[in-house]
Amino acid sequence: MNSEPNKKGIAYLVGAGPGRADLITLRGAELIKIADCIIVDKLANPALLELARKDAEIIHVPKRIGPGSFTQDQINRILVAKALEGKTVVRLKGGDPCIFGRCTEEAALLNDAGVDFEIVPGITAALAASEYTGIMLTDRRYSSQVAFITGREAEGKEDTNIDWNVLAHFPGTLVFYMGIGTLPTIAEKLMANGMSGDTSAALVANATFPTQKVVRATLSRIVETCGREQIEPPALIIVGAAAQGEPGLNWFMRKPLFGRTIVVTRDADGNAEMAQKIAARGGNPVEFTTMAIQPLTDRTEFLQVLTELTTYDWVIFTSPNGVTVFFDALHVLGKDARVFASVKLATLGAKTAASLARYGVQADFVPTVFTGRELGIQLMAYANLHDKKVLLLRSELASDELVEVLQQAGARVRDVSIYTAVPRQGDAAGLEDQIRRDQIHWLTFASPSSVRGLFEQVRPDVVNAGKAKVASIGPVTSRELAQFGVRIDVEATEHTVDGMLDAIETAERVV
Ligand code: SAH
Repeated sequence: MNSEPNKKGIAYLVGAGPGRADLITLRGAELIKIADCIIVDKLANPALLELARKDAEIIHVPKRIGPGSFTQDQINRILVAKALEGKTVVRLKGGDPCIFGRCTEEAALLNDAGVDFEIVPGITAALAASEYTGIMLTDRRYSSQVAFITGREAEGKEDTNIDWNVLAHFPGTLVFYMGIGTLPTIAEKLMANGMSGDTSAALVANATFPTQKVVRATLSRIVETCGREQIEPPALIIVGAAAQGEPGLNWFMRKPLFGRTIVVTRDADGNAEMAQKIAARGGNPVEFTTMAIQPLTDRTEFLQVLTELTTYDWVIFTSPNGVTVFFDALHVLGKDARVFASVKLATLGAKTAASLARYGVQADFVPTVFTGRELGIQLMAYANLHDKKVLLLRSELASDELVEVLQQAGARVRDVSIYTAVPRQGDAAGLEDQIRRDQIHWLTFASPSSVRGLFEQVRPDVVNAGKAKVASIGPVTSRELAQFGVRIDVEATEHTVDGMLDAIETAERVV
C-alpha cells in the first residue's frame, strides 16, 4: 500500500512540543496518526509514537557523539528519499521545528527535490520552561523584549553571529538554548561585556517533565551553583530580571507529588491509567508491569453458567477487569447486556460500577467501603440473602472472604473465575538498583497479585533496606505484603487507586 507507484509523497516538519507528550498541537498529533514514515529526533517525546500506525516505519535519528548517531546530511537524505518514494513523512522535532531546528535546511532540500511540504509549529522549549516555572519572559514590569540565543555558538566558532556586547546590554530577557556545555563562557562573556554579575539567572532542565529542575543564582554565581547540582540535559539558561521568577506562579512544581518517583506494579492497562493519575498530581510514574490479565471465559464452567444466568438473584463483579473480560466474551458469543434480564447486580467499588455503566448496565448495589468483606456485610444489610443464589464473576486469585461472609448470610454462592493474572517479568535488577540508589520514593500495590508479581522478582530485603516507601491499597493487599515480610508505610483508607494516592500525599505532607 505504501509503495503505490504514482502516489505523491509529502513531508511534514512537525514540532513535537517541549517535553510532555500532550503539549503537541492537534495538527501534529493527527499527522503522526496517518504517517507512513516518522523520522524522530531525540528530543521528541517517544510516547508520541504510540499514536502512529502499527505499520508505520519509525526512524530514530539522534544527533549525538558516538555510534548510532546521524549527521544532518544523512537525515536530510533519508527525509527526501522517503518522500520521493511516495510516502507521507513526518519529520518530528522537539519543541518548534524551526527554532534552532535546522528546519530551513530540510525544507529547502525538500523544495529542491520537488517534494511538497508543510511546517507544523510547536511549543518551543523557552515558552514551556518559563510557564512551567513561573519565570515570566515578558512581564511588563521588567522585560519588554526577549531574545532566543543558541549557546552552541558561544565557543570556538569563528564566524559567530552572537554580538555579546548587544546581549550584555539587552534590556529584557535572554534565553540560551543548548547552553549547558558553554555556560561558563556565556556567563563570562556577558559580564566581560558589561552585564552586572548581580543579574538574575536561572537554568531550567527537563522542562514540563516530572523531573523538571530549576537552579537559580546571580550571573556571577550561576556556574558554581550549577556545578553543585546534578543537571541532566536538555536545559535552558535564562538571564535577566525575569529569571528570578514569581514563586506564586510556580504552579507545576507546587503540585503535591512533584519530584516524587512512584512505581506502579499492575498489568499494562492498569499501570497506564495509574501513571496518568500520578502525573496529574505532579509525580513521576515508573511503570513496572508485573502481570497480564488472561480471560478464562472459554472454560465450560463459564459458558454453562451463562446459560442459567437468569436463575441467580444476584451477580457480583469485583473489578473493572472482570467487567471487561465478561463483556468481551459476551460480544464474541453475539450476546449483550440482556443476558442479565432482571438479575440484580452488585459491584465492589465505584470504578467497577462505572465499568458496568459503560455497557449500559446500572449496578443495583455498591458498598461504601471497597473490600470483599465489606461488600458481603453491607449487601447482607441491604438485602435478604437467605437461600438466595449469588454468582461471583471474578479473578481466579480473589480471596475467600466474600464467599465466607455471603455463605454465613445463608446465600448459595457460586464463585466462577472469569480471568486470572499471569506473571510478567520486568527489569527487576534495574529496579533494585534504582531502589538502592534512592531514586525511587514509593512502590505502590493495588492488589495482592501485584505484590506477588513484584516480590517474586524483586527481593523484599532490598526494599526494606532502602528509603523507598511502600503503599498498599487496602488490608487484603497489606496482608500479602506482610507474607513477603515487606514493611508497609501507608495503607489507603479508601481502597481505590485515588485513595492510595491521597494516602501518599498525606504522608508526603507530614515529612
Ligand atoms: N526546536 C527546539 C530546540 C532545539 S535545540 C525547541 O523549539 O524547543 C535543543 C535545545 O532546546 C536543548 O539544548 C535545550 O536548550 C532546549 N530544550 C529542549 N527541550 C527542553 C526541555 N524540555 N527543557 C529544557 N530545555 C529544553
